[in-house]
Amino acid sequence: MHTSQVRHPEHQQLHALGSSPLPYRGRFAPSPSGPLHFGSLVAALASYLDAKANHGQWLVRMEDIDTPRVVPGAADAILTTLDAYGLHWDGQVVYQSQRHDLYQDVLDSLVKEQNVYACICTRKHIKARGGYYDNHCRAKNHHFDGNALRLKQRFPIFEFHDGLQGQVHIPNDIAREDYIVKRRDGLFAYQLVVVVDDHQQEITHIVRGADLLEPTARQLSLFKQLNYTAPHFTHVPLAVATPGFKLSKQNHAPAIDNSKPLPALVAALEFLGFTLPQAHFDDVETLLKWAISHYDVTRLPNNKEIQVVQKSTERYEFTPL
Ligand SMILES: [Zn+2]
Repeated sequence: MHTSQVRHPEHQQLHALGSSPLPYRGRFAPSPSGPLHFGSLVAALASYLDAKANHGQWLVRMEDIDTPRVVPGAADAILTTLDAYGLHWDGQVVYQSQRHDLYQDVLDSLVKEQNVYACICTRKHIKARGGYYDNHCRAKNHHFDGNALRLKQRFPIFEFHDGLQGQVHIPNDIAREDYIVKRRDGLFAYQLVVVVDDHQQEITHIVRGADLLEPTARQLSLFKQLNYTAPHFTHVPLAVATPGFKLSKQNHAPAIDNSKPLPALVAALEFLGFTLPQAHFDDVETLLKWAISHYDVTRLPNNKEIQVVQKSTERYEFTPL
């Protein structure tokens, strides 16, 4: 069912040449904290269409590093749903939970270069000092054991270009913040693992929800710190239940239906600004083929959020915010 289980040799070859740009590789990286709902379908579909319209590969990575949030069985349920929706991925699914050694190696190198320090501040302390971390512990030489580890921010990113949102400006406090790369509970932080993974998987294009615009600045700074080539970023509108609140298990976004994928897939295309023809599509494969041939990134809506109200299994209402 999956189009490829091995790394494409032509990809390796192009990479070895050095001067050629890397072939397009996109990815969808869900957290297996529950089944896919409409919001995650939109994110998966946008990255899939962008990859396929550019004749690229589309990879799936399970972001299961935050083990307390992982729901047993959710990763398999997500893969089953992607298949049911015709969103077949290339290569093997990567699981962050199996890559601790890789993350530890990168963290060790950052520690060795004295780019990391331990922080004992609680969330309450940080809030009392204004809400953003003011790099309070940078010169304090706290013990690493049992404390959060922060990266010394040497490459603050104040703005970057987004494929859909245009020039994105980042507030100074966020850009300059020494953010956490290893949590107090011993887990690697999202910002670290996502950059290591995108580099190691040779991802060239990231298409995802606009709730990750500010984290992108941090990730871009880490790409620089680690001397990695950063991918190209495109942030599509986030599907929200109410302004500021993305569709999620918490606000009762239902799991999408594996047995009847067409209505939700049509709705996800409409969310992304497609005007579908009157003609009826018999299956998801035909519909996706049509969508790939009509995909144009410049015609996607560039709102940060679109409110979704599901009226029935077949009827969705969208309000751009
Ligand atoms: Zn601190």
